[in-house]
Parts: sequence; structure tokens; C-alpha cells
Amino acid sequence: MQTYAYGYPRLGSGREFKKIIEAFWKGAITESATVEQLDSLQEQMIAVYEAKVDLFPVGEITAYDPMFETAVMVGAYTPANLSEYYALCRGKNALEMTKWFNTNYHYLVPDFSDRKWPAFSVTKNRAKEYHEQFNRGIPYLIGPFTFLKLSKGITPEQFDKYLQSLTAVYREILNELPAAHIEEPAFVLELTDSEIAAIHRTYETLGETGAKMNLITYYDAVDFLEVLYELPVAGIGLDFVHGPANLDTIRKSGFPKGKVLIAGLIDGRNVWKNDMASSLAILKELSQYTSSLAVSNAGPLYHVPVTLQGETLPAELTERLAFANEKLAEIEHLADLFTSGEAPLAPQKSIFGVDTSVQTRVAKLKDTDFIKSIPLQERRNLHDQMLGLPILPTTTIGSFPQTAEVRKKRAAFRKGQIDKQEYQGWIRHKISDLVSFQENLGLDVLVHGEFERTDMVEFFAEKLEGIATTKNGWIISYGTRGYRPPIIYGDVSRPESMTIGEIAYAQTLTGKPVKGMLTGPVTIIAWSFARNDIPLANVAYQIGLALQDEIRDYEKADIKIVQVDEPAIREKAPLKRTAWPAYFDWAIRSFNLTTNTDPKTQIHTHICYSEFGEIIEQINLMDFDVISIETTRSRGDILESFEKIDFQRQIGLGVWDIHSPTVPDVKEMQEVVERALKVIPKTNFWINPDCGLKTRDWPETEASLRNLVMVAKQMR
Ligand code: GLN
Ligand code: ZN
Repeated sequence: MQTYAYGYPRLGSGREFKKIIEAFWKGAITESATVEQLDSLQEQMIAVYEAKVDLFPVGEITAYDPMFETAVMVGAYTPANLSEYYALCRGKNALEMTKWFNTNYHYLVPDFSDRKWPAFSVTKNRAKEYHEQFNRGIPYLIGPFTFLKLSKGITPEQFDKYLQSLTAVYREILNELPAAHIEEPAFVLELTDSEIAAIHRTYETLGETGAKMNLITYYDAVDFLEVLYELPVAGIGLDFVHGPANLDTIRKSGFPKGKVLIAGLIDGRNVWKNDMASSLAILKELSQYTSSLAVSNAGPLYHVPVTLQGETLPAELTERLAFANEKLAEIEHLADLFTSGEAPLAPQKSIFGVDTSVQTRVAKLKDTDFIKSIPLQERRNLHDQMLGLPILPTTTIGSFPQTAEVRKKRAAFRKGQIDKQEYQGWIRHKISDLVSFQENLGLDVLVHGEFERTDMVEFFAEKLEGIATTKNGWIISYGTRGYRPPIIYGDVSRPESMTIGEIAYAQTLTGKPVKGMLTGPVTIIAWSFARNDIPLANVAYQIGLALQDEIRDYEKADIKIVQVDEPAIREKAPLKRTAWPAYFDWAIRSFNLTTNTDPKTQIHTHICYSEFGEIIEQINLMDFDVISIETTRSRGDILESFEKIDFQRQIGLGVWDIHSPTVPDVKEMQEVVERALKVIPKTNFWINPDCGLKTRDWPETEASLRNLVMVAKQMR
């Protein structure tokens, strides 16, 4: 039984990846020093693999992102040096970034619109270079199909032609390699027959090179596994954790002789210690279909932190966890158990994190707990009377510039350099300045600014019982950026109110309504590591009930509008549409549970997702009163989707692209509103930016909001 691992976190245990690259950006180290240091990081990754597993890739290191690295390798971009390379990764000429499958990793999207043909040529055989330089490991590649499928600017009609051109380039690359570790996660998507046929042709061609290819898939099951069986590849990697249907296919169709089944059994996407007994059972079953088996991780390991070492979490929690290093040991251990025939140790049962009162509360939920007592239109009348807002009301999404000053103060408080009283006094000061600022601008619905929040999930995670935060549990989000996902390990409850201090204070300063600001259950789950010993739906309802209590506190403090952000609702959706109904059922119910409080409270939500049309039906089942959406990238599409559906709720389509430092002028925003009003009734329309203003600076914020308020006034 061999062991096989891939996707080890390049970030490094001390976030070396970030430090090296950012040192180059600052001009502190030269290009050659940067390359050397990244190589030594690759050397360390290899050493970790070598200590635990038999087989692993080489060349997974990148100077920024593997998709972009591939684009350079195949000549789609030709930066002459590292500075030119980074000019394509960040700044005003950067490629667009988007989420990698249903993860929270963002890759750079190669763009082929307006390209001269042929699109590809081998500019740099990086696989060969790394193979020769490190002299061990299997050369790593992103497969040509996944690369193109995740690129943009290629029409379905052009796809085949592009794939053929790219296949010729991969063929040249593979001709110089003895073997290759080729990742094709896009094989788990729902593909068309012609795409599947194209995959077949591609790998038939690549097989002619004689390179021993291991075709690695993950994140879900492959629907056309039998087609992969026919390909001239040496091994096939399957994910049995996130794609249990792979096992069903093998039961039905077996596994071909002469190929290695690389069995992904150790979860690469979550931090829980593996259940050896159940993995062993799958492994034993698989061994009835093939004698060539390797134990592997299921999904790349960079979705989990590097190591548990150095964490100071409670012992009862630590003993349940495995990060990347510990998972490599689990791969080894699982293979040993299989070979030795030894029985795995039964997991320890502990009551740590159990809160029966929370469980009972969820168990007792009735259907009516998810349905508001008053329907939308009646609520509308109530709110209109109570709030007295003008037509085309203006508001913002919540956060205001998190300047160096704000970050410094928060850090000082965390380090204990200033006490709670001083810190809270300072936050109040910021809130009071912001309230006056918004009143002066003439905004209609105000916010408190979120100055006390580092991050919209971490902030709540720290306040909720049943969720832990780590000291060094960084995972990569994009480029050199990491974040530390909280760990939802137990039953979730709210020991005391979490945000009322700031919100209620802001409301005392003004006669205009201030929005209470919460992060919804789906987003808290999506950006954390969630427990998997109970259904995710129940985790969501537990969080939903805690948030509902928070809204009831708002109501007691005379807060009339509450916004529950769910920016991750689309991202958390399963890759396959067939699994959508089950997911959206609990996702929508958790929102409706959270917001099922006094119907007099006007409920807002916010979503940042540009392909909104895809999920508009589901969104419409969330019983909010007002939604604000990030739209700058695809306003036209969104409007089209509103034409198709009877959407009665109020909408604020973002009129200011907050990802750009440019101040939008009145005319430009007015055009956006005019176009929208052709589809959306004027009485249902709000005027707001795309998203929170956290990353912006004050001068552009002030100028842009001034223009935004002007647009509303003129349009009224
Ligand atoms: N209320 C949050 C903010 O304004 C929303 C952030 C988000 O959508 N990601 O920052
Ligand atoms: Zn947003």
C-alpha cells in the first residue's frame, strides 16, 4: 500500500511565503533572492512530504498563484521579469480574481477575450525545471481542461480549438517528463458530452508522450469515471470524502487493471481528525476491485493550516484536530493499519462543547419558526409608516475605512497595551464622528462603521460559545493573503449580547435609523471549519438562534433596521446542481430563522456575488425586506434576471464599485440607476455602494458618497 499526498500549504508554518514575496514588493530583496527563497520553501515542502509519504508532486510552489503560473507556462502571459509578473497579479493591470471551485481560495482568472491566435506556446517548461532542480517528486501540472474551463473569454464554440492548441503545448511539456501529477478538479463539475469527448481526445494525445500521468480529481465525484478508465494514464486520484458517489461508480463498474487508484480518504478541507475505522472500511472495499491502491488526501491540503504545534487550544479540542502535518501522518497511519490488519483505536468520547439546552432548542423548532408572522406587503406598510424614508433611500453596506489608525488601535487592545475602557471610548469616538459624517452627507439609513471588527466572521466567532479561534491557523485566501478560519467545534450559543453596545450607542446620537449589523449563519459556517458530527443544517440553526437573540436585543434598544450579511451563500453551494435543493433548503431556512423576530423590524441582507441571476430564485425565498447586491461586474445580467422573476422585495443594486479607488461621478451613477429603474419599480429601489468601504480611504469615500446622495436627490 503506497501513500500519496499533494497540495501541502505553501504558506509555510511562519507564513514564509507571504514574507518572501512582500519583501520583494517592498524592494527589500532582489528577484534572484526571491526565487532562491521560494525554492527553499519548495525544498521544505518536499522534506515534509518525504518524511511521511511515498509519492508527492514537485513544483507546486508558485510566486503567487498556480493558475497564473500555468498561464505563464503556456505563454498566455509573458512577463519579462518578476516585477512584470506581479504587475499582472496585483494593482490596476491585474487579472481578475475569483473563487476556486467552492472554496475560499481565489485564483487569477486567465482572460482570452480579444486574443490573437494561436493562444499558446511553451514559454517555460517549469515542470521540467523543478523536476531537474529537486531531482525527486512527480512534476506538478494543472491539467489543460481545468485550466481552460476556469479561464474566461473563450466561447463554447471556441473551446475545442483552444483545448487542441493547449494540448499541443502540454504534449511538448510532457515529452520532456518521465511522469506527471496532473490535477483536473474541473472533472468533478457537471460537464457536457462534448466536453467529456474533448477530455478523452486530450488525454489520448497526451498519452502518446509516454509520460506516466497521475490524473488527480477532487472536491466531488466524477460523473463520467468510466471515461477516465479508458485513458492512457498511470493513476487516477478520486475524492471519497467529498465525492462518495465515486465509490458507487466503482461498485458498479469496477476499476481498470494496470492503473493505480489514488484513494483520497483524508479530508483536505476540514480540520477534524480522521475516522480511521470508516476510511479503513472504504479502503478494504476498494481493495476488492483493484490491487494497485495508494492512500491519499481528499483535496489539496492548503485549505487547512500547517500544524497544530504551537496552538494553545483546549486539550479536549486539540485531540480532535488534524492540520496538514498531522494529516500527512494520518495518511501514513491509515496505510499502516491496512497493511498490518490492526484495528484502529476507537475515538475518545467527550462532552466538551456539548450544550444540551442549545440542542433542545434546535430540536424543538417548528415550521412556523421559519415563517414570519406578517407577509412582505403588510410589513412594507408598517415599515413605511414607522421609518418615513424618502423614495430612493440611501445607505451604505456597513464598514467604513479601516485605516492604519484603526488597525493599530485594535492591535494595541489585543496586545493589552491599552485597556478595555480606553479602547471602547476610542471606538465610541469613531462611531460618533461617523454618525455626524453620514448626517452631514445626507444619507438616510446610517451604520456604525464596524471599526471594532477585524473580520466579519472572526468577530462573531470570538464572542460565540462553541467556536474556537487559533493563534497561527492561517490558510491562504489569495496571493500572499491568509486568514485564520475559526473552528466550530461544539453547540453554539451567545453568552451575552455581541454588538448591542456599539449599535445602540450609534442610535442614541441620531434621529435617523441606524442599522444593526450581523453576519449570517451560512457565511459564518462557510468561512470557518465547521463540525461534521451533526448535520450542517443544525449548526446553521444553532447560530441562527444566537443571532435571533441578538436581533431581539436590538429591538429592545429601539433599533428599527437590521442587516444580516450573507456574502458566502453562493460560494457555499455544492458544485453539482443536483445537490443544490438540499443545501439551499437549510441555507434559506437558517436566514429566515435568524430574522424571524418582530415583523416591525425591517430586515436587510447583503450579498456580494456578481452572477446573481443563477441564484435569484433561491434568494427570493429568503424573507428579507431589502437586499443590497454587489453588481458592478455584471449589472446587465442582474437586471435581466429581475425581468424574469416577480421580485417584490426592495433592492439596492450597488452603484459604486468599491473595489476601485476611482470616485464615481454623478452622471455615471445616475445612468446605472436609470437603467435599473426600467426593470425595478422606483418605490422598491435603494441607492448604495457595492459592498463595505473597509478597504477604501476617507477622501474617496467622502467624495463618492457625496455624489451618491446627489444622485438620489436628483432622481427623486
Ligand atoms: N457589512 C460588511 C461590510 O460592510 C459586509 C462585507 C461583505 O459583504 N463581505 O464590510
Ligand atoms: Zn459585500
